[in-house]
Amino acid sequence: MDSPHLTAEPSPDDTSGPDRTPPVFDVIIAGCGPTGAMLAAELRLHDVRVLVLEKETEPVSYVRIVSLHMRSLELMAMRGLLDRLLEHGRRRPAGGLFAAIPKPAPEGLDSAYAYLLGIPQPVVVRLLEEHAIGLGAQVRHGCAVAGFEQDDEGVTVELASGGVAGGGGEQLRSRYLVGCDGGRSTVRKLLGVGFPGEPSRNDTLMGEMEVGVPREEITARMAEIRETTQRFWLRPFGEKVYSVVVPATGVSDRAEPPTLEDFKQRLRAVAGTDFGVHSPRWLSRFGDATRLAERYRVGRVLLAGDAAHIHPPTGGQGLNLGVQDAFNLGWKLAAQVRGRAPETLLDTYQAERHPVAEDVLDNTRAQMELHSTEPGPLAVRRLLTELMDFDEVNRRLVEKITAIGIRYDFGPGPDLLGRRLPDIDVAQGHLYGLLHRGRGLLLDRTDRLTAGAWSDRVDRLADPTAALDVPCVLLRPDGHVAWIGDDQQDLDAHLARWFGAPTG
Ligand SMILES: Cc1cc2nc3c(=O)[nH]c(=O)nc-3n(C[C@H](O)[C@H](O)[C@H](O)COP(=O)(O)OP(=O)(O)OC[C@H]3O[C@@H](n4cnc5c(N)ncnc54)[C@H](O)[C@@H]3O)c2cc1C
Repeated sequence: MDSPHLTAEPSPDDTSGPDRTPPVFDVIIAGCGPTGAMLAAELRLHDVRVLVLEKETEPVSYVRIVSLHMRSLELMAMRGLLDRLLEHGRRRPAGGLFAAIPKPAPEGLDSAYAYLLGIPQPVVVRLLEEHAIGLGAQVRHGCAVAGFEQDDEGVTVELASGGVAGGGGEQLRSRYLVGCDGGRSTVRKLLGVGFPGEPSRNDTLMGEMEVGVPREEITARMAEIRETTQRFWLRPFGEKVYSVVVPATGVSDRAEPPTLEDFKQRLRAVAGTDFGVHSPRWLSRFGDATRLAERYRVGRVLLAGDAAHIHPPTGGQGLNLGVQDAFNLGWKLAAQVRGRAPETLLDTYQAERHPVAEDVLDNTRAQMELHSTEPGPLAVRRLLTELMDFDEVNRRLVEKITAIGIRYDFGPGPDLLGRRLPDIDVAQGHLYGLLHRGRGLLLDRTDRLTAGAWSDRVDRLADPTAALDVPCVLLRPDGHVAWIGDDQQDLDAHLARWFGAPTG
């Protein structure tokens, strides 16, 4: 596909040597899953020349329903995407998230989007990809990244031979490469970045198929089995189809996709019946490996999403985490490409997001323990269930899973510093409605401060009525509070810290 921005002038800091082709792209993204598509869109908001290379020619065949949590819903609202997602998903209360302990969400959660959206993952990917393409990103399907080499000026990316899109051995040049290519990331492996953690101990089969017995029979049998086995369910999905989950114990060939016979055999072993399952729509298998990349950046190559961290799906956090990585990285990498980034800005990506992933890995480890049916973990589960009756405990866990409790370390300051600002009411309506373009925002209740020489990157809203209990905040493009105060000189120093040198 041709794109007008391909013919754009090279960026100001293109300095390729005489024997190298100048990079045609600013950023190549490996992988068009939720993370890659979101990152491409975020970069395009800043006119960065982006190419996304996706190994697969077609969207995935399985229809996994994922949970989009509060912070992701907020990000989607910030970019004007939420309404499109809501059309395709089902809202659910944001309770019962931690280890599926059935406690309702606490009252008065501090978000205008205090619910969970259940939505098929392929729909999320399609909408994000359409959004990225609409903003001018190029996406090439059937092109797998097979190798790369980086030098002082850029990265030479090599495509796998035999790709249906004719990418055989083709080399492409860009200034940066981001591996958003999933848990088995080729980019991470080629980069030689360690991926320490634990291998999968419990594999699970998951699929959709029809059943041959009445619903009542399934409901009764399921209730009995769930008392001793947590990773088991048959849930109606559509008219005749059931979503089936069963432990994969004994289904040994991890390299091969599971068969219907594997499901039948495992159902018989666990439930004493295979419920007459037949006509599968799709069959898959997933594990509970937990690993975190040692580094998120080596020179001009970065990692995001599952390429940087994997963990069990309990609590439904992986896609959310990846999309939020993309939001954190997009504006920083764009500033770097445009030659405007303060020297250490790009490194704040790892400094901020690595600890967040560490925390998610830990909470999934804890949740997995709580899914065990051994007497010890069962006792801990009972105790935690009791403790969750305390509002503060319940609230803390919900804020953790939904990522609205994140506070980046921006140095000493009030508690709001480093946190995301909720979608508060402002004179023009909703705050997030003013953030669609991915720029910084100065929200000023004093009406005397200015973004001055940063006005080309930072908008200003003077609103004495804004629902804030501080005089003024500076918001980064990802909605986190980068500064609080009422002093112009101090503000200027922080504008320079986050947005680079002033213009003019
Ligand atoms: C059973 C289950 C339930 C889950 N439920 C939830 C949930 O409720 N909520 C949630 O947030 N998360 C959930 N997850 C996790 C979520 O699916 C992943 O975290 C998410 O898909 C990660 O997105 P990603 O874009 O980083 O990686 P991926 O989705 O893996 O995308 C990577 C892309 O890169 C492509 N690719 C791979 N190699 C190459 C290459 N060499 N060159 C080019 N392209 C390449 C792949 O084809 C793929 O399209 C669940 C996971 C499982 C297994």
